[in-house]
Amino acid sequence: MTDDSQPSPILCARCGETALGVENPPFPGELGEELRARICRNCWAEWQNLEVMVINELQLNFMDPRSLDILAGHMREFLLLDKPAESGE
Ligand SMILES: [Zn+2]
Repeated sequence: MTDDSQPSPILCARCGETALGVENPPFPGELGEELRARICRNCWAEWQNLEVMVINELQLNFMDPRSLDILAGHMREFLLLDKPAESGE
């Protein structure tokens, strides 16, 4: 744990820029942490624009956990989260 009040820049998995990470990821747990640690705010803003279209197009319903899974899948793809991390296995 470091100083939480002072966000430190992260290396974005999508654009490769060093920038501030996603502030309040809407996903709990691991995925939220991953977003915070690997995705910059600019890329997140881009996803949020696209997310609206994905939700409308696929008629996703947030009451349905499967819809959240589908949305998360699209999000991971868009944000390139499934690319192996440099230090990962
Ligand atoms: Zn980025």
